[in-house]
Amino acid sequence: MTDVDAVVIGAGNAGLTAAATLQRAGLRTLLVERHNVPGGCATSFRRGRYEFEVALHQLSGVGLEGQGFTLRGLFNKLGVSDRIDFVQEEDLYRAVVPGQHDVTLPADWAGAADALEEAFPGNRDRIERFFKLLRNVAFWQIAAMRGLPGDDINPVLFRQGLRPLGDVLDEHFDDPGIKSVLAAYWVYLGQPPSRLAFQDLAVTLFAYLEFKPWHVRGGSQAMSTAILDSFLDAGGEVRFNTAVTGIRTERGRAVGVRLDDGEEVSAREVVSNASLPVTYGMLDASAVPHRIRTDLATRRVGVSGFILHMGLDATPAELGFTTSTTFVNADTDDERTYAAYHTLEPARGICLSSYDVAPIGFAPSGTTHVGLMTLQYSDLWEKLSPAEYAKAKFAYAETLLDRAEAVVPGIRDAIEEVDVATPLTMARYLGHPGGAIYGYDQDRTENWLFRDSLRDPGVPGLHLAGSWAGFGGFQPTLEAGHRVARNLLHAQPA
Ligand SMILES: Cc1cc2nc3c(=O)[nH]c(=O)nc-3n(C[C@H](O)[C@H](O)[C@H](O)COP(=O)(O)OP(=O)(O)OC[C@H]3O[C@@H](n4cnc5c(N)ncnc54)[C@H](O)[C@@H]3O)c2cc1C
Repeated sequence: MTDVDAVVIGAGNAGLTAAATLQRAGLRTLLVERHNVPGGCATSFRRGRYEFEVALHQLSGVGLEGQGFTLRGLFNKLGVSDRIDFVQEEDLYRAVVPGQHDVTLPADWAGAADALEEAFPGNRDRIERFFKLLRNVAFWQIAAMRGLPGDDINPVLFRQGLRPLGDVLDEHFDDPGIKSVLAAYWVYLGQPPSRLAFQDLAVTLFAYLEFKPWHVRGGSQAMSTAILDSFLDAGGEVRFNTAVTGIRTERGRAVGVRLDDGEEVSAREVVSNASLPVTYGMLDASAVPHRIRTDLATRRVGVSGFILHMGLDATPAELGFTTSTTFVNADTDDERTYAAYHTLEPARGICLSSYDVAPIGFAPSGTTHVGLMTLQYSDLWEKLSPAEYAKAKFAYAETLLDRAEAVVPGIRDAIEEVDVATPLTMARYLGHPGGAIYGYDQDRTENWLFRDSLRDPGVPGLHLAGSWAGFGGFQPTLEAGHRVARNLLHAQPA
């Protein structure tokens, strides 16, 4: 039997930062990953002469040199800063509703306010008031997440933070266009303005406006590999193509794992980056406290994605890309767009990422690497027969291309390579129920304030890290792995 101090299940963002933190602190750590590469969502893959980024559309949390935000600090601590090269995006995004508006917001407060005023004249004061509230709420929300005691938190967070984003927008603006442009990042959180807590959009928009959106040279795979190398350099051991099938317990405490080749591993601490349903499903039912079972039963598996990874045989300028990130919507009805994630009606909203406006170094010279994405729940996809699935996949992909034609006319003619991923693809590669990419639905009821299980997994020796045990997205999961490992280390006997 292999004996280590800690075993980490899954090498997604949080699994990687947890493993590197533990090993670098001196705990003999085994990292077990069912796929053949590190990263989970944060990977890339090759088709023809193209390498395709799987997931990273915009990285938050980096900040400028000299004005770095949390991720620069984290990567310094993990000894990976020198191994990662960040690529800055100049703009936040371009938001388009054909025939209604076409607005590009630069990634700075004043520039964004100017662009909004130019597109929706007469709103200057309202924009300033909205941005002021947003900065305030984001600031205190970040302080709260970092553990500032409730008594010290500014009342503005209690009054405004958990209100639906839609209500706060309605209070500030009349024009549906400006509301839709300001709310565009709701798709990065997977919940529409009526269900999303204002504080969550506030933190997201604040993070990108204040600390800029970034890509990574060599894609998110380069970042995952850099963190893995830091772990290996410190003496850690990794097993790829190996799934954990069981979490061993003794007298109610997690004491190791069972691998799919039958090997048993003993470990004082078990960190899981797998989904919560999979993690608790790997424990004996008797080891899972009643309150955890009740909590899990009331949660909803979150949204997945549908994405076309494309190599286009033309430069970004030839194709008409002016920004890295473009949102194209059928109209300003975000609630209807969200409802359509449960159907196969033509995609109503897409996010179009060009990785060569500020090149990340993947695309061959003269070409453009593009990700064309919308969100989708997996329910319908799971019910299709194999023949129906193939048909539905290509028919639905066409509807994303139709939407993209509005900003890149003739995009189909430029396609040299294309690969399509559905919710079932995500489920297959990540092992997560529903192929969920942000964990559970991140609506207002899922806030960490209301979920005990997020603070206490209920099984001594078991620690949860990743999108299912907190917030989804790159920055939150990279930070979560480090935080969980640090808390675990603090609790170690001297
Ligand atoms: C297409 C797409 C676009 C996205 N765009 C963005 C974006 O622009 N910005 C952003 O911030 N976020 C984005 N996200 C979300 C973000 O990528 C994820 O929320 C985040 O990477 C999840 O990290 P994680 O630590 O939870 O681990 P995951 O990436 O979920 O990985 C979990 C790992 O655990 C492994 N595993 C599971 N079960 C087992 C087992 N039993 N044994 C061994 N290993 C196991 C899996 O194989 C996987 O490698 C996107 C995601 C996708 C898929």
